[in-house]
Amino acid sequence: MESYSTVKVIGEGSFGRAVLVQTKNSKEKWVMKEIRLPQAQRREAALLASMKHPNIVAFKDSFEDNGHLYIVMEYCSGGDLLQRIRQQKGTLFSENVILRWFAQMCLGAQHIHDKRVLHRDLKSKNIFLTTHGTVKLGDFGSACILKSCSGEGYAHSYVGTPYYVSPEIWDSQPYNNKSDVWSLGCVLYELCTLRHPFQANSWKSLILRVCRGAYTPIPSHFPYELHYLIKHMFKTNPRDRPSIHTILNSHRASRLLCKHL
Ligand code: ADP
Ligand code: MG
Repeated sequence: MESYSTVKVIGEGSFGRAVLVQTKNSKEKWVMKEIRLPQAQRREAALLASMKHPNIVAFKDSFEDNGHLYIVMEYCSGGDLLQRIRQQKGTLFSENVILRWFAQMCLGAQHIHDKRVLHRDLKSKNIFLTTHGTVKLGDFGSACILKSCSGEGYAHSYVGTPYYVSPEIWDSQPYNNKSDVWSLGCVLYELCTLRHPFQANSWKSLILRVCRGAYTPIPSHFPYELHYLIKHMFKTNPRDRPSIHTILNSHRASRLLCKHL
């Protein structure tokens, strides 16, 4: 605790806050997430620590002090993707940018799934950018190990933003790897249109739209493969949805994505 000094608060979240800190000796910048115990899930620190991938926020350290859990991690100075989308003020991203970012998200998600972990809260606010434009998946506060998540992935325990929740979760089925794919589909759509694919004035009509998989198509200037990919990521039955592995390796869109890696 003594070896870090606070630079500024950069985010307030559901469990506490995220603070930009500096190591006292080397002046390196890191993000320290401060989580109030007892809500603090020590699982978040353990799962983040178990990841090691260029497209996942790097873990540095974690400790408990005075009723708080602290997680120290890599600082992504480009902020989160939601902020980045808002900065566009309506100007669409180019196909190149979208595919480059999305391909990196898939690589990060593939690493998570390969470790038998589900992220369960993939959304533009939990995806970060570095100064060099590298995309990193972050916020493992809802993540779980596949074997131990069954039974707790239901909609009634859901507390986050509803826009990214897949039909099977509203249908009270367990969270699975394809539910993460649905959420990434929502982020991909957001990058293409700067809007959520499923939006409504009430929870009830939002859930109906999600469960019907009813969305407005992305603009027609985007390549056919991208339209096709989104259509498949929004298959309402998770079994019909591609896995991350399939998207990266054998989906029609994979050649398009590989060009951007
Ligand atoms: P919560 O569980 O409260 O949502 P997050 O880990 O998503 O916590 O952090 C909350 C906010 O703090 C993020 O949306 C982002 O704006 C900022 N933040 C968190 N981690 C980082 C990071 N590594 N680099 C830059 N900003 C971050
Ligand atoms: Mg978050």
